[in-house]
Amino acid sequence: MCKTVLDKSLYRFDELEPSYWEATVSRPREETLRQVVSTDVAIIGGGFSGCSAALHLARDHGIHSTVLEAGRVGWGASGRNGGFVNIPASKLSVAQLVRRFGFDETKRFFAASVEASKLPKSLAAEEGFDIQPQGRGWYTVAHHPNRMSKLRNYADILRDSFGIPCRILDAQEFRQEVHGGVETYGGMHMDVGYALHPLAYCLGLAESARRRGASLYSASPVIKWQREGKKHRLITPGGSVLADQVIIATNGYTSDSLHPLISGRILPAISNILVTRPLTPAEISRQHWPSEAPVINTRTLVYYYRMLPDRRILFGARGDVSGDVRSMEAIRARMSSEFYRIFPHLTGTTFDYFWRGVVALSQKLTPSVGQLEEDSTVYYALGYQANGVATAPYAGKLVADAIGTKRPVAAPLPMAGLPAKFLIPSARPLALASAYAWYRFKDWYQDRKA
Ligand SMILES: Cc1cc2nc3c(=O)[nH]c(=O)nc-3n(C[C@H](O)[C@H](O)[C@H](O)COP(=O)(O)OP(=O)(O)OC[C@H]3O[C@@H](n4cnc5c(N)ncnc54)[C@H](O)[C@@H]3O)c2cc1C
Repeated sequence: MCKTVLDKSLYRFDELEPSYWEATVSRPREETLRQVVSTDVAIIGGGFSGCSAALHLARDHGIHSTVLEAGRVGWGASGRNGGFVNIPASKLSVAQLVRRFGFDETKRFFAASVEASKLPKSLAAEEGFDIQPQGRGWYTVAHHPNRMSKLRNYADILRDSFGIPCRILDAQEFRQEVHGGVETYGGMHMDVGYALHPLAYCLGLAESARRRGASLYSASPVIKWQREGKKHRLITPGGSVLADQVIIATNGYTSDSLHPLISGRILPAISNILVTRPLTPAEISRQHWPSEAPVINTRTLVYYYRMLPDRRILFGARGDVSGDVRSMEAIRARMSSEFYRIFPHLTGTTFDYFWRGVVALSQKLTPSVGQLEEDSTVYYALGYQANGVATAPYAGKLVADAIGTKRPVAAPLPMAGLPAKFLIPSARPLALASAYAWYRFKDWYQDRKA
């Protein structure tokens, strides 16, 4: 049933990704569905969105849910990301958001995003699990001097119009406070968010949901979905679930054959991560890296990086559009040479981990959280535009609250509603390749200007 856009190697649900995160957690035993069960709400996908929905349904509304996960809990992007709790989950500029949704709804969107950023720490405290938080807020670094004016404007708008605490740093302040290296021409600090261990967070959500009565099944992909009167039957290789309502929480891994109304609407894109070996205190001091907060640069195709608790550096980038072995090796080589170029004092440092995963972009360029107009018993929470650590669990909560209160999903307009279907869904890889080529050209052209 899995109809995918990217290379098949990205959908090996039976293999765990050899990531730093997998190497630094202990997974509890997980069960596979081998029987026929009934539930109030079936949830497809055991990542942040699905596990948070299950937890909030059980804890806040006393509603039983059954999570069906094709791989293991957190197998998808939730267990493989950079762990940056940063906002907003949008590829639209503030001006575009305001033009499209109006000022008040944009303000609601930013307020919801700030609320979302607080969720990991509050859930971890309430439910008693560890997300290994690091740093305070996050930084955007100007990789070229001419990006500073845009950052200044952005900080002013966020602060003055939306009440988001932002601070501008000049080049010297940035290098002093965050890290040294080339392409550090100043930056912006947003005092919202932090870094965390994403897989520990996802497993924490899953275990809390289970403890509060939800059922979770791993290695249980939904391979067929049929209607039985008012109910839904979701069929897996080992059994089936009969449910009153369904939540689609499959994000970048959404198969085009899962549901006709979701088909062709998500643009899956690959994100890649390299992690160095632990650095010595001498290396850290040579490179000068005092900060534990996450950093993203101002390229259109961003680089993102952070210091990990055991003094490794995690370095992430996008750019591979197919996912086959050749392009994976090419992006890996490009990332390591870019890493050495940006952090010259770390040239030659070996990498202990490389992995990748799939994020969900869409033509809407903002998340999609809601209820199908054509079938009000089906909810969806997806399309976080590669920014779901804060927003995906929040979206899961919004959907759970809508089901629990029998009210419409209370998402601000930028987060509401499905994205448009791609005109030619099979041309999505080509569309992404063209977009990436355009982004590279745009960055190259802007970098040439003074
Ligand atoms: C390398 C990488 C780095 C990233 N870094 C960051 C970051 O630092 N900060 C940030 O905010 N965001 C980041 N993201 C994005 C973020 O991880 C995602 O937005 C978020 O995890 C989405 O959560 P989710 O639960 O909706 O989807 P996922 O975690 O992808 O979960 C979807 C699940 O659905 C399952 N599934 C699919 N089809 C079926 C089926 N038919 N039956 C059963 N199960 C199915 C999949 O196995 C998968 O586990 C990154 C993503 C990647 C890949």
